[in-house]
Amino acid sequence: RDAAIPIESLDQLSKTSMPLCMRMCHEHIRAQHHIKHNGRMQYGLFIKGIGVTLEDSLRFWREEFTKKMDADKFARSYEYNIYHNYGKKGSMVNYTPYSCAKIIKDATGPGDCHGCPYKYMDQGSLKTKLSSYGLSASAVDEVMSFVSRGHYQIACGKYFQITHNSTVEPTIIHPNNYFEESQITMG
Ligand code: SF4
Repeated sequence: RDAAIPIESLDQLSKTSMPLCMRMCHEHIRAQHHIKHNGRMQYGLFIKGIGVTLEDSLRFWREEFTKKMDADKFARSYEYNIYHNYGKKGSMVNYTPYSCAKIIKDATGPGDCHGCPYKYMDQGSLKTKLSSYGLSASAVDEVMSFVSRGHYQIACGKYFQITHNSTVEPTIIHPNNYFEESQITMG
């Protein structure tokens, strides 16, 4: 992608174009002003992948985290990792955003928000979440019919299709593809 995505548009994009795994990380950060390491990796690499610049990433994390800690602690404890993800420190590897396969495999525990929500959320909470995101009762049932059989990525494609009013259901293999596909579908 050529155009940088300004962090000011992330709230809106999280609602329209992010898959559940990333929208939930985004909402977690906005609400808690913190997110654990694996969540920072999952979401941080995702926003890098959609076109958020290093400078904007630093600003995004700093603005949130310093609601709960001072700027010195943020700089000491968290900045290195953000530079690192952009290939600017340490091994200088330009890390790629995580695929669905990796995210689905990741273990999650209490207080975590990384991982694939179709897998780690209990079905009652997932249903509530989906309706709070505007899905009708029948749409929720449709998505859940795949979740209950362990077809998480198909459930995710169904969610995409419903929320984009799309005639086709895309095959979801990567959250960043989901995002790109959404941007194309919405024109
Ligand atoms: Fe994210 Fe992939 Fe799960 Fe969809 S299927 S929520 S893109 S990990």
